[in-house]
Parts: sequence; C-alpha cells; structure tokens
Amino acid sequence: MTARRAIRPRDRLVVALGGNAIQRAHDHGTWRESVRRMRGTARVLAALVGPGRELIVTHGNGPQVGRLLREAELGAREVPPPPLHVLGAESEGQLGYLIAQELGAALARRGVRRTVVPIVSRTEVAPRDPAFRRPTKPVGQFYPASEARKLRARLGWTLAEDRERGGWRRVVPSPEPVGWVEAPAVRAMLDAGLGARCVFVVSGGGGVPVVRRGATLTGVDAVIDKDRAAALVARAVGASTLAIVTDVPGAAVGFGTPDVRWLGGVSRAELARYARAGEFGAGSMGPKVEAGLRFLRAGGHRFLISDIPTLPAALAGRAGTRVPR
Ligand code: ADP
Ligand code: MG
Repeated sequence: MTARRAIRPRDRLVVALGGNAIQRAHDHGTWRESVRRMRGTARVLAALVGPGRELIVTHGNGPQVGRLLREAELGAREVPPPPLHVLGAESEGQLGYLIAQELGAALARRGVRRTVVPIVSRTEVAPRDPAFRRPTKPVGQFYPASEARKLRARLGWTLAEDRERGGWRRVVPSPEPVGWVEAPAVRAMLDAGLGARCVFVVSGGGGVPVVRRGATLTGVDAVIDKDRAAALVARAVGASTLAIVTDVPGAAVGFGTPDVRWLGGVSRAELARYARAGEFGAGSMGPKVEAGLRFLRAGGHRFLISDIPTLPAALAGRAGTRVPR
C-alpha cells in the first residue's frame, strides 16, 4: 500500500444522474440539446475525479425511452417495433455513448487519464414479483380515451388515466431489482485497480429487466426504478459514497408548503422517520431516500442528495442532504 493511500482512504463514489441531467421538462429532446446539458454535467463530474476518488456513473432514461417508444409506434407500419426491454437497452447505449463522449472530453481537458466505459447492463427481477400483476409506472406519451381503448384491445397494454394532465398513458410493471448481472465483472475490474483508469457507466435506466429461467435470462417488458438500481450498484461495487443527483438541491420536509425545510446533515434514523411520515414524493424523492437508507444499512459510508451545481459542495460536507452511516 502506498503512503498516499494510507493517509487518504479511497473514495469509491457512485453518482446516479436523474433524467434532467440530460433533458429538462421543456427541452425538445434534440441530440444537440442533450449534448449541451451533458457537457455541463460532465464538467462538474470531471472535477470530482482524482487520485483519491473512483467514479462510477449510473443514470435514468425516462425521456429517452419515451422517445424511442414513440419512434417505434410511428414507424410500426414499416419497421417491426422492438419490445420495451430492447428499447431499454437502446437507451442505455445512446446515453452511455453520450456520457462517454462528454465526460471523456471533460476529463481529458483536465488532464485526467481515465477511459469512460459504458456497459449495457441487465438487472434481474423475480418472475413472481407482485409488480407484474399491478403495472404502475407510466411510460411514453399521453393518449385520448378513445385511442387508449384501441391500444388496450390491439396491443394488450395496460393504460391508466392521469387526471391532472388530462390523458391516458401506458403503465408497465416496476419490479424490485434483485441482482445486477454484470456486477461480478465490474467488481473484479475495480478490485484489480481499474477504477484508477476507468469511469464505468452502468445500469442505465435501472438496467434492462431480465428474469432467470434455469440458465437463461429473458428480457421482460417492465422498467426498473433507477434509484433502487443505484442502491444495488453502489452495494455491488462496495461504494463508500452514493450521491443521487436530481433537479432539486436536496430532500426537504414540508415540500411544496410554505414551511418547507431543506435537509442538510441528517441522521439515518431521522431520515427514516421522515420517510415513514410520508414527507417524500412516492415516485420521485421517496425512492431516492429509500435507496440511500438501503445503501447505508448495507454498510455504505455516506449518502448524498443534491443537484449538479451543488454536488461538489455536498461531497465537501457543506450543502445538499447528507446522511452518514
Ligand atoms: P429524477 O429524474 O432525478 O429521478 P424525480 O422527479 O423523480 O427526478 O425526483 C425529483 C423531484 O422530487 C423533485 O423535482 C421534487 O419535485 C420531488 N419531491 C417530492 N418530494 C420531495 C421532497 N420531500 N423534497 C424534495 N423534492 C421532492
Ligand atoms: Mg425519478
């Protein structure tokens, strides 16, 4: 062991990027726009990488997979539409490429010699997961009621009404991730010291959901919550820090009320108490907090929630929501 390592323990950091790191609500979703967004994110991430720190990146894919679904739908007369799990793999490919391009360039500009290595990942789910009987996760675009009825009859989709936004959307199961298929390979590479030479991009969009039947893994039409998958990734690589990066600077209590209070340093017990009290949005902040608590219970050292601009200060212990073990 070198002297430097003895003084400064290595930080193995997993950063989970929310969809907005790449595409925002009012964006058109053009490639140029995605490049611009990612460039800003990459600049911040690159500055975090250094001798004392390894970086593993994971990310959401909501807007991208929504667009691929729409393309498949519009092109169906000419090109057979691929199943949702294949679109998930496509989104991992395109986002892995984007992150490799931009983060690779940002690292090189700082003189950091690390190769960004995207890995199309699969996430195992249980075939009997109750989520398969009760699809809840909306994907893709909104349809009027008449179109929703047709899609249900023609394609066997489950559709649910979104009263707030006035329309129907396809809903798919969101099963619990139980295993990350590529974990042994990535873990072995990190254990061999490759974390000092590579930044791995893994489990994009939560990974492609697969079920195991004997020796075969079969893709299934479902989506995996990227925050839950991030907890799995962080545990699998033995991360010291899990940072979930989103579009707000942290978690808050009384969110959306005049008495909102942003959480800074907070204990695990306190955070768990707020979660039980229902302080965190069910499909948004809730899964992040849950993921963090799981990671810490499994031996992680610290859990952070922040937005991209706040991330460096959050890592330095000065901003964001910070939860120690
Ligand atoms: P991501 O793409 O990063 O997963 P989400 O929209 O799923 O983003 O989650 C972030 C959102 O969670 C915030 O924009 C905010 O509106 C919402 N949210 C719900 N409850 C809270 C809370 N208690 N504190 C902070 N944000 C919250
Ligand atoms: Mg989310």
